Amino acid sequence: MNVLVINAGSSSLKYQLIWVEQQIVLARGICERVGAPDAFLKHGIAQNEVVLDAPMKDHDAAIGLVLENLVSGPNKAIDSLDEIDAIGHRVVQGGKYFDRSVLIDDEVIAKIDELAELAPLHNKAALMGINACLHHMPGKPMVAVFDTSYFQTMPPKAYMYPIPYELYEKYSLRKYGAHGTSHRYIAERAAAFLDEDLEDLKLITCHLGNGCSMSAIDHGVAVDTSMGLTPLDGLMMGTRCGGIDPAIVTFIMDHEGLTAAEANDLLNKKSGLLGISGISNDLRSVRDASEAGHERAQLAYDMYSNSVKKYIGQYIAVMGGVDAIVLTAGVGENCEKMRRMIFSGLQPLGIVLDRERNRVRGGERVISTDNSEVVILVIPTDEEYMIARDTFELVHEQ
Ligand code: ADP
Repeated sequence: MNVLVINAGSSSLKYQLIWVEQQIVLARGICERVGAPDAFLKHGIAQNEVVLDAPMKDHDAAIGLVLENLVSGPNKAIDSLDEIDAIGHRVVQGGKYFDRSVLIDDEVIAKIDELAELAPLHNKAALMGINACLHHMPGKPMVAVFDTSYFQTMPPKAYMYPIPYELYEKYSLRKYGAHGTSHRYIAERAAAFLDEDLEDLKLITCHLGNGCSMSAIDHGVAVDTSMGLTPLDGLMMGTRCGGIDPAIVTFIMDHEGLTAAEANDLLNKKSGLLGISGISNDLRSVRDASEAGHERAQLAYDMYSNSVKKYIGQYIAVMGGVDAIVLTAGVGENCEKMRRMIFSGLQPLGIVLDRERNRVRGGERVISTDNSEVVILVIPTDEEYMIARDTFELVHEQ
């Protein structure tokens, strides 16, 4: 079965066409700056990639262009749209309604819309992607895969905020988490890699990319995660602040004369590695600058590793131990130095990084020493494959 996986953002649209049974990506690409005059599409098959400057006034036009390039032109991947069997959509916020992926119907669309109050940019973007596919490929089965579903197993003591209970009742303000598809994937792969049942393991999973989140997965059940009502909470990230004293929000609104939307923007887009270093949200640039003696870059680097370290401690306490710590995404998979800093000094907790193994690049691998009580694993994430697999399974069950 060929599944078209769509990840729609407010001004971008990423896609992959995946032959699920063989786990082969037939084509992939991204439409960027959708709605702006300088919109472009990057579309690739295997190593071949073309970049097309093309007007895309909205997501509907973007999907139209993607489909055109899938079936024609130099990088065509299939002969006709009939070869797309189903579509899987990434949706950020599934709220309390969705504890798993679902086939999309009118009721599901209405719920995603209703939940847009909790994730305005993200859910509206997903709806634009869904509507565009309905328009261009009517009748094709579609599945919604939510970032939050995996964390619906958290107990109330983990997901509630200590604010007046009425606010939870009135607005459903609670922790939902995000990146769930990635955490689910790496947890499953980690168990398979270790040749153990997921139900027998205590795992800490770390998705460290531009966005960063960590989860405690106790015997196969997600019991806590670092992102909150929105993906702003938890770890320090590329441009997001993560967990800070909430009083800072009202302080900067008062003192800088910011509106709620401006404060939100500052904490989401101008904070994190970028805010502290003043250089970049990209960890590579921050690392290079710190090595060249830039003090604020060094501070940003130290704060980032410290923030991961603190969550490791929290989750060991929450689960009463840990068997394996699993790292993924841009930083987790690639940054040898950051991994070294995160795990330095954790020997008393039975966590010992192997310096040589830590230098090895690529693939699923162990980077702890043989005598480390806790195994440290690097598992490259594959959220698109998980979305394709969920879509495949739900369409088959129909
Ligand atoms: P996104 O959340 O946008 O999907 P990624 O998972 O691609 O992000 O991660 C992006 C981050 O990974 C950036 O901070 C980038 O600097 C970092 N990164 C990617 N490759 C390396 C590398 N080889 N060494 C250090 N950091 C890296």
